[in-house]
Amino acid sequence: MPELPEVETIKEDLRGLVVGSTLEWAEVLAPSLVEQPSTEEFVGRLEGVGITGARRRAKHLIVELDSGDSLVFQLKIGGQLLLVPPVEEPLTALMLVLHLDGDRRLFLRDETGFTRARMLDAGELEERLSSLGPEPLEDGFEADYLPRAIGSRRAQIKPLLLDQKVISGIGNIYVDEILYDARLHPRRKANTLSEEEWQALHRAIRSNLAAGVEHRGTTVRLYRDVLDRPGEHQNYLRVFEKHGQPCPGCEGEVVREKVSGRPSHFCPACQREDGSGQDGQLELR
Ligand SMILES: [Zn+2]
Repeated sequence: MPELPEVETIKEDLRGLVVGSTLEWAEVLAPSLVEQPSTEEFVGRLEGVGITGARRRAKHLIVELDSGDSLVFQLKIGGQLLLVPPVEEPLTALMLVLHLDGDRRLFLRDETGFTRARMLDAGELEERLSSLGPEPLEDGFEADYLPRAIGSRRAQIKPLLLDQKVISGIGNIYVDEILYDARLHPRRKANTLSEEEWQALHRAIRSNLAAGVEHRGTTVRLYRDVLDRPGEHQNYLRVFEKHGQPCPGCEGEVVREKVSGRPSHFCPACQREDGSGQDGQLELR
């Protein structure tokens, strides 16, 4: 499930390994991949173009072309962009092959089949990205943004943090770690958070995502970098999929419950649903 740190890692890999190459031709193996425009036009606009840049916005991976177009991927659950030939079955997992100059190939592989790609001109790209919330690792993301944006909402904090219109790049793994760090129960209503709790949440968002980037992403199941290597951040998780195991911060046990339809992992002792016993200052790293 590539989130901000995983897409950031892939983007940096592309900058080092692929930007500057020419795309000779493209092969779409899974037509469901191409959301926009038609598959035929998508392939046509990938022929003989130079790759001039790579960037990330939220969980979108954006490959910039010298034609002015952008090739935009959403890797969703299991998308992998690999510069080494995938050896793993099933063969149906291969969705796209980009043939680069120098006899190199970039493979898009996704055994879940949910990855989507778009070919967008500058105007279409801007429109597509315009509704996204701020980038949490950028300087402009200040501690007062979330309370201003969602502080009066009666919705639960976890689904609000997963809403890409509220804040960019957070998915189901990092959100559980962030809420644990901030000592917030995933079902807490946004309008019940104290100023200290908003500050703790801001710190937890920044520190968890920054650590994820530093560790080149989290590989729980399918995530790989462009050279097919797993990330390292799974070794630093405290609660995600640790249900039944001791909480690293108290005598209690991590539990797993559905919150707003998503499996959620937390310590009911450290993250009290009624918000009591919070001090918001705890740091357990
Ligand atoms: Zn605990």
